[in-house]
Amino acid sequence: MAETIFDKIINKEIPAEILYEDDLSLAFKDINPQAPYHFLVIPKKQIATVNDIAEEDREVVGHLSFVAAKIAKEEGFADQGYRTVMNCNEYGGQTVYHIHLHVLAGKPLGWPPY
Ligand code: 5GP
Repeated sequence: MAETIFDKIINKEIPAEILYEDDLSLAFKDINPQAPYHFLVIPKKQIATVNDIAEEDREVVGHLSFVAAKIAKEEGFADQGYRTVMNCNEYGGQTVYHIHLHVLAGKPLGWPPY
C-alpha cells in the first residue's frame, strides 16, 4: 500500500502537534484547522479508505472514536459538543488516503455540509 504523509507523522519523520498516542492510534492537530479545535485521530495501521476497513479492523476503528471522546473530555469541550467525520474518496472530500477521524469543535458547526 502506498505510504502517505500520515505514515511519516506516525514514524516521526515529520513533525506534528501530537495530542495522544498508543499502540493502535495517534492523534494530532490538523495543519489547516477548520474550527477552533481541529485534530485527527488515525490508526497506526495503514487503511486507505473507509471502504478498506476489514473485519479484523473493527476494534481499531472503534478505538478512534474512543480516543476522540477521551481527548474531548480532557480538553474540556466534550459537553459543549463537537463533530467527528471520516471522509471517503472523492465525493467525501478525502485527500489523504490513510483513514482519519476529524474532530472539530469550539464553535457551533453548520449542517448540512453543502
Ligand atoms: P481529508 O481531506 O483527507 O479528509 O483530510 C486530510 C486532513 O489532513 C486535512 O484536514 C489536512 O489539513 C490534514 N493534513 C494534510 N497534511 C497534513 C500534515 O502534514 N500535517 C497535519 N497535521 N495535517 C495534515
